Amino acid sequence: MESKSPESYARDPNKPWSMVDFEIGRPLGKGKFGRVYLAREVKSKFIVALKVIFKEQIEKYKIQHQLRREMEIQTSLRHPNILRLYGWFDDDERIVLILEYAYGGELYGVLRKNGYLTEQAAATYISSLSQALAYCHGKCVIHRDIKPENLLLDHEGRLKIADFGWSVQSSNKRKTMCGTLDYLAPEMVENKDHDYAVDNWTLGILCYEFLYGNPPFEAENQKDTFKRIVKIDLSFPPTPNVSEEAKNLISQLLVKDPSKRLSIQKILEHPWIVKNADPKGICPQSQDK
Ligand code: ATP
Ligand code: MG
Repeated sequence: MESKSPESYARDPNKPWSMVDFEIGRPLGKGKFGRVYLAREVKSKFIVALKVIFKEQIEKYKIQHQLRREMEIQTSLRHPNILRLYGWFDDDERIVLILEYAYGGELYGVLRKNGYLTEQAAATYISSLSQALAYCHGKCVIHRDIKPENLLLDHEGRLKIADFGWSVQSSNKRKTMCGTLDYLAPEMVENKDHDYAVDNWTLGILCYEFLYGNPPFEAENQKDTFKRIVKIDLSFPPTPNVSEEAKNLISQLLVKDPSKRLSIQKILEHPWIVKNADPKGICPQSQDK
């Protein structure tokens, strides 16, 4: 049913959102800081995802200020490949984020199920990600956290970056909670200054993982992953599914010197992307779950 977006109600300062505005449906997932539920706004019948975060958790990790700032950034971003944050509200115990619902769930799930993606699917996702990042860089929003768990798919198979703007929190989490280093650029694992070029590195990692099923510097433990990243210990196992053009793109992104990595614009013009990516960013084949 076509219905009014919930943000049109959220703008009314006399009527802030609250839990009574929503019918809560099935749980969609569980994260470190809370749970996500399918929900429907009662008046408009608009379907959303509600992410419920307990204040106790936020206070424990001392991320209140950062969370607020980041929520403001995400609310202001409008791009077809960035999951919308329509608004938020709170009560004594919880903060509730009103998010765009991603019907297709995690891209990670598709990757795990199929083992790897076709060149068409991989190129479509890399192109979508590049366009979303170009948009963000244009707004001076950088340092994103684009690991596959944070990539969701909508009902048409269009990629949506979720948890946009949670990057500092996520990288802290990674350091303190034995998360993966696999997506971090060498300048980040070595704690050097870094800029938007970390995103270009991550595109190279994801492109490799989409095509081969695992990230390129995977190792038994963090120390070995770290060593492989800083050495750029990159190899391409022989497989008929990956063309020379794809390897060429990956090799131009996984470059140690950030200033020598292929620019976002050049990624979008790369022959492998031009040849394989769906111009509308729609990838239905990845949806058969
Ligand atoms: P965190 O965000 O706390 O770092 P996380 O990404 O694992 O951790 P959440 O963002 O809370 O956790 O989401 C948990 C899961 O719920 C996701 O992995 C996804 O499967 C599902 N999910 C989250 N948001 C949506 C959404 N908008 N639409 C559909 N499913 C969602
Ligand atoms: Mg998340």
